[in-house]
Amino acid sequence: MEDCVFCKITNGEIPVKIIYENDNFVSFPDANQQIDGHSLVVSKKHFATVLDIPNTLGGELLDCIKNTTLKLMAEYKSEGFNIVSNNFESAGQVVGHVHFHILPRKKGGKVPRVY
Ligand code: AMP
Ligand code: ZN
Repeated sequence: MEDCVFCKITNGEIPVKIIYENDNFVSFPDANQQIDGHSLVVSKKHFATVLDIPNTLGGELLDCIKNTTLKLMAEYKSEGFNIVSNNFESAGQVVGHVHFHILPRKKGGKVPRVY
């Protein structure tokens, strides 16, 4: 998709520090860190929302979410995490390419705002 920032990242046009990837999903740090470690899991193909992801990719999506989260929890020494996905403009989706915010959380730490 032209002019889609996440397509530009997944096709290598915009370089990012990859945290984890498999055939269909990749994760990297969010450019606007709401809390330390705030990262995004993004589909390599352009799907607009969760409703467009084929069910057959469910396992790979979970694989990318879990491996990304485990790495972040170890690196940021967090005891918990949030997974947030904003879908459609009315729910706060700004980038129209499906993505999942992964937020490593610590007891008493800052509360992230991602929608
Ligand atoms: P949402 O509001 O759920 O659509 O979130 C979009 C997220 O994409 C925001 O948290 C942005 O900070 C993030 N973002 C936008 N452009 C980039 C980029 N080039 N690299 C990393 N994260 C980005
Ligand atoms: Zn895209």
